[in-house]
Amino acid sequence: ELILTDFLDRAVMIYGKKEAIVDQDENTHTYQEVNRRVQQLSHGLDSLGVRKGDRVAYLAPNTLEMYEGFYGVFQTGAVMVSLNTRLKPEDYRFILDHSESKVLFVDYELVPLIEPIVEQLETVEHIVVHGRDKEENGMAGYNSWLASFPETPFPRADVKEDDTATLLYTSGTTGNPKGVMLTHRNNYLHALSIQHHLRVSDRDTLIHILPMFHVNGWGSPFYYTANGATQVMQKKVIPEEILEKAKKYEATVMHMAPTVLNGLISKYHELKPPIPETMRLVIAGSAPPKAFVKEIEEEIGWEFYQVYGMTESSPLSTASYISTEEDALKGDEYYEAKAKAGLEVISTKVRVVDETGEEVQRDGKEVGEVIVKGPGVMKGYWKNDEETNRTIQNGWLYTGDMGTIDDRGRVAITDRKKDIIISGGENISSIEVESVFYDHPDIQEAAVIALPHEKWGETPHAIIVQKEGSGLTEEKVIQFSKKKLAHFKCPTSVTFIEELPKTASGKIQKVKLRNLVGEDK
Ligand code: ATP
Ligand code: MG
Repeated sequence: ELILTDFLDRAVMIYGKKEAIVDQDENTHTYQEVNRRVQQLSHGLDSLGVRKGDRVAYLAPNTLEMYEGFYGVFQTGAVMVSLNTRLKPEDYRFILDHSESKVLFVDYELVPLIEPIVEQLETVEHIVVHGRDKEENGMAGYNSWLASFPETPFPRADVKEDDTATLLYTSGTTGNPKGVMLTHRNNYLHALSIQHHLRVSDRDTLIHILPMFHVNGWGSPFYYTANGATQVMQKKVIPEEILEKAKKYEATVMHMAPTVLNGLISKYHELKPPIPETMRLVIAGSAPPKAFVKEIEEEIGWEFYQVYGMTESSPLSTASYISTEEDALKGDEYYEAKAKAGLEVISTKVRVVDETGEEVQRDGKEVGEVIVKGPGVMKGYWKNDEETNRTIQNGWLYTGDMGTIDDRGRVAITDRKKDIIISGGENISSIEVESVFYDHPDIQEAAVIALPHEKWGETPHAIIVQKEGSGLTEEKVIQFSKKKLAHFKCPTSVTFIEELPKTASGKIQKVKLRNLVGEDK
C-alpha cells in the first residue's frame, strides 16, 4: 500500500539529523524533531476524537504547524481539508460544513476570518489556534495543547492507498470551489513522478512560496520530505524577503505562481541582490511570455520550467522539460518550448481532443480540449457524483482547458474553455492577447475578457495595470496590440485598474473582472 506517511518515515530514517524545516520564525528543526511533533499531533487529534475518515481542516499559511499537520493527520487516517487563506468568512462556513470537518486548526493571524461564523458551524467541535500559547474564547492554544501530548510513536490507523487523504477545494477561478477527493495513492504516485522531473534530492533547499493549502503547493511537502531536502517556510509573499531567504539558506528550488515570479523578477532588477550559486530551478504554472523565460534563464541564470495541472489531477500533468537535442538549439525554438506547458510527466497520459472525442492533429496548431489520464486523477468530487461523471469519462479527466499538441507531444494551453472569446465566428485565446501586453515595458499586468458586441457577438476587452507613472491611454494600448496581433484579436476597449483580482494561488479571477467591467459598461 502506498501511504503518504512513508515519506516522513523515510526522511527520519535516512536524513533524521538533517535540517528539515526552517520555520516561519526562522528556527530550524531536524526531521527527527519534526517527527516528534507529528507524533504529539496525532495523539492530540486522537484525544479530540478524530478517527479514520474524519475530516480535519486547516486554515494556515506556510508554517511548521501547517507542515506537520499533513503527517499528523495522515497517521490517524483522517482526511486533511486545507482552506485557502484568502476567502471570506461565508466561504469558510460553506467549506467547513460541506466537508463536515470535525476539528479546525487556524493560524492566530487568521482567527478574525472565522470568528464571525464560529457559532454557526454545523460540524466543527474543536478549534485550535496555531501560534497561541493558551486557550482563548473557547479555542485551544496550539503551543500548550501540542506540548501536553506524548512524543511516543502513534499507533497508526489502518489506512489503504485508495482511502482519501485530502479534500482539496479548487481555486474557485470560474465559480464556487469544488471539493476534490485525492487519495494516498494519487498523491504518492504524483510525488514520485514529479520528484523525478525536478531531480529532487537531499541537496535541495526549497523555499515554500506557493501556499501549501493549495494543490500547487500541496504536493511539495511530499517529495521534498521523501528526499530529505530542507524546506523553508515562507508565510507571506514578499519578494525582498524571498530573495533574502534564498541567499541566506542557499535555496536551490522555488515554485511559484507566474504573477509572483513576475514580481520577484522586477524586484531582482531593482535590488540586484547576489543570488546564491546553488539556485538551480524555478517552476511556475501558466504561460509566461517567451521573453520572460529568456530573461530568467539568461540574465538571472535559473533554469525555468512551466508546469501545467489542476487540483483534479494532483495537480501536475505536464512540465516544460527539454531534451538535450532541443537544449542544443538554445535559440527561439528553445524558449518557445520552455514557455509552453510542456510534455506529459512520467505515469500520465495527455491528449488533446475535439468535440467528438477524436484526437486533434499533432501539429501544434489545432486547438482542442486537453484530457488527462494517470494515477494523479482524483477519486471524484466530494458529494457531487454528477459533476464527477461529467468530468471523468473512461478514466480520462476532461480538464476544461483548451490547447494544442505537437508531434513530440508538447502541449500548449491556449485558454480555458470558458475564457475563449468568440468574435465574428473566430476563436480568440485571451492568453495570447494577454501575452502581447506583457511585452509592453509600461504594463505590469493584463487580462483580456469578452464583452458582448452587437455585430461580432463578442469582442476582446483589456484590463490593464500600468506601471507607476506610465501615462498609458486606451488608444495607446489598442495601437500597441495592433502592431503585434491580427486586428480581429485586438481589444476594442480598455479598463485601467490598480490591481487585478486574484485567487490565493495567484490566478487572475476573470469572473470578478467580468462583473466589474460589466457594471461599468
Ligand atoms: P475552479 O476549478 O474552481 O474554477 P481553478 O480551475 O483555477 O478553479 P485549480 O485547480 O487551482 O483551480 O487550477 C487549475 C487550472 O489552472 C487549470 O485547469 C488551468 O486552467 C490553469 N492552469 C494551470 N496550469 C496552467 C498553465 N501552465 N497554463 C495555463 N493555465 C494553467
Ligand atoms: Mg478548475
